[in-house]
Amino acid sequence: MARLNLEVVTPEKIVVSEDIDTMVAPGSLGEFGILEGHAPFLTGIIPGELRYSLNDKAQYISVTSGFAEISNDKISVLVDAAEMSHEIDAERAAAARDRAQQRLADKSKKEDIDFLRAEIALKRALMRIKVSEKKV
Ligand code: ATP
Repeated sequence: MARLNLEVVTPEKIVVSEDIDTMVAPGSLGEFGILEGHAPFLTGIIPGELRYSLNDKAQYISVTSGFAEISNDKISVLVDAAEMSHEIDAERAAAARDRAQQRLADKSKKEDIDFLRAEIALKRALMRIKVSEKKV
């Protein structure tokens, strides 16, 4: 099939640029799916798992924040960071999770802004660990 073109781009690199059949992504208004012929649309992307399939084979990507544009069967996802599941360093993510949990445990000594940063970092780390377990 392969009737959609998907590009996932960060400030550092092009993570994916290929023709695919379907995609499901974490939108700011909820998870959304894209098939061929979808109406044009623009949405925010929140940290989570983006998955796509080609010939019934699924691929998983961890994404952080950004936005996605869908137009003429082309999907452009621009996010701060993204990694294919096999690119995720699970030990690094576990270390990031432990650091964030430590900061949250110390929260009484910290400013609110640090608490929020630690919570967001923890979410990113947990999301990376989850996606890394989906190696294909
Ligand atoms: P860390 O504390 O481990 O740096 P982080 O959540 O602060 O994690 P980000 O700021 O989201 O990291 O990402 C910085 C860069 O490092 C991005 O290019 C991102 O793709 C990459 N990256 C972050 N964590 C991992 C990981 N566990 N495996 C592979 N690449 C990662």
